[in-house]
Amino acid sequence: MSHQPITDLSRLCIHTITTKPWGIEEAAQNFSAAGVKGITVWRDALAGRDIKKTGDLLRAHDLSVVSLCRGGFFPSIDPTKRQAATDDNRKAIEEAYELGTKLIVLVCGADPAQPLADSRQQIQDGIETLLPEASAAGVQLAIEPLHPMYADTRSAINTLAQANDMCEAINSPWVGVAVDVYHLWWDPSLKQEIKRCGENKHLLAFHICDWKSPTVDMLNDRGLMGEGCIPLPKIRSWVEATGFNGFIEVEIFSTEYWKQDQSQFLQRIITGYKNNS
Ligand code: ZN
Repeated sequence: MSHQPITDLSRLCIHTITTKPWGIEEAAQNFSAAGVKGITVWRDALAGRDIKKTGDLLRAHDLSVVSLCRGGFFPSIDPTKRQAATDDNRKAIEEAYELGTKLIVLVCGADPAQPLADSRQQIQDGIETLLPEASAAGVQLAIEPLHPMYADTRSAINTLAQANDMCEAINSPWVGVAVDVYHLWWDPSLKQEIKRCGENKHLLAFHICDWKSPTVDMLNDRGLMGEGCIPLPKIRSWVEATGFNGFIEVEIFSTEYWKQDQSQFLQRIITGYKNNS
């Protein structure tokens, strides 16, 4: 199946962290003025704000609040830290409810002091513990597999197959996956695993950016769509072949772009979204 061209901004969502120098109020105003229709809120953007009022403000700007980033970081060799993580995830569910979003993205975590398999078991246990609160709040949890370069401390779930395995093991309507091209583009099983998400109806979010070559920083050197080597239109066609018609979320952490004029950067995001996604 060939990809459908993007003709308007009706499915464009931008993460607050993408334009990190802007406060959330400024981001909302500028996104809305540019015709962007969705926003994903990083928890740090809510610091010091009334969360419910912030959600109302976003909707007043005609922005859908697509998700809250992020929960997770479940594993630790130390049970006290695991309990603290569970408490923080409960807080994230409350925040998502107040904000009025139906989805939390999970960066699941890992502890280099223990085997990855142990971290994965703690992730599954942690997610299962949250299911009563998630269903009561009407908030789904999306497991985001992270590139294996982050397997030491950020996530023991590094392929979409592992995320799918865990979703199927948990088998709850409140748990699904987030597909982020930055983490998954290299995987020879990607097409087949995206199809598998679709069959189980648990593909909850789609994040885009590009992989710059060379990448000079493992965390904060993501590229704009079109300036790297990720076959974005092809991956989007696989995602859409599952029936997914939700927001396409631009999530770029970039020390370089954060230094630039954010209004010009926003225009480049829109151009990259239309022409190279
Ligand atoms: Zn992501």
